[in-house]
Amino acid sequence: MPQNRMIEDNYRQRGLRNKLVKIIRQKGISDERVLAAIAKMPRHVFFDDALLTHAYEDKAFPIGEGQTISQPYTVAFQTQLLTVKQGDKVLEVGTGSGYQACILMELGAKVYTIEYNKKLFEQTKSFLPRIGYSPFFFYGDGSKGLPSKAPFDKILVTAGAPVIPDALTEQLKDNGVLVIPVGGRDRQSMIRITKSTGKLVKEEFDYFAFVPLLGKVVGKKIHRVTT
Ligand code: SAH
Repeated sequence: MPQNRMIEDNYRQRGLRNKLVKIIRQKGISDERVLAAIAKMPRHVFFDDALLTHAYEDKAFPIGEGQTISQPYTVAFQTQLLTVKQGDKVLEVGTGSGYQACILMELGAKVYTIEYNKKLFEQTKSFLPRIGYSPFFFYGDGSKGLPSKAPFDKILVTAGAPVIPDALTEQLKDNGVLVIPVGGRDRQSMIRITKSTGKLVKEEFDYFAFVPLLGKVVGKKIHRVTT
């Protein structure tokens, strides 16, 4: 994460971003609000100098502490599934670089973001306000949700979970939506859970590969969720 580098955004970087948006549109992202947020967000400012030239590739990259900034297509896919509305109260589990949190804020969400790694938590908490984004930052195990701030309109998990944590479905408002990659270490299916008059409705989408959700994950195997 760039701590002291000048943060600038020039026409070249904007051009690279427009190309990136074209690529993720071709891969199937159609929500114009999500595409506009990706087009606006200077992803290069989240990168260390050594990796700067890769900032607009549609790939995940290391952000230190063994963690990654998600692939832009993946960020767009999860954000699109979350159907964020202006003013939605959103919990993000896995702050990481903060890129995804900024995208959610661009869509008008009130963002609560929780990170398990102390160093990343501290870095991102001091960095994001410098580029104009101030979500509410929390340090801890997000697989337990954030009970003190619940319930949420939307919950987004940006690490791969072995099961759907009970705490997260419990902390959803009625008509709330949880987007979470669930599966093994190597790949997970993208799951969307919608709470509808107390019942959990499950939809399953493509496979992705996320870094693992750490902490104490207590929850149901996916097949036990009502479809
Ligand atoms: N949303 C991030 C992606 C980061 S990768 C971004 O836009 O950059 C996943 C992140 O989840 C890592 O930073 C990892 O430390 C964090 N994480 C893993 N398990 C967690 C848990 N139980 N609670 C909170 N954060 C967790």
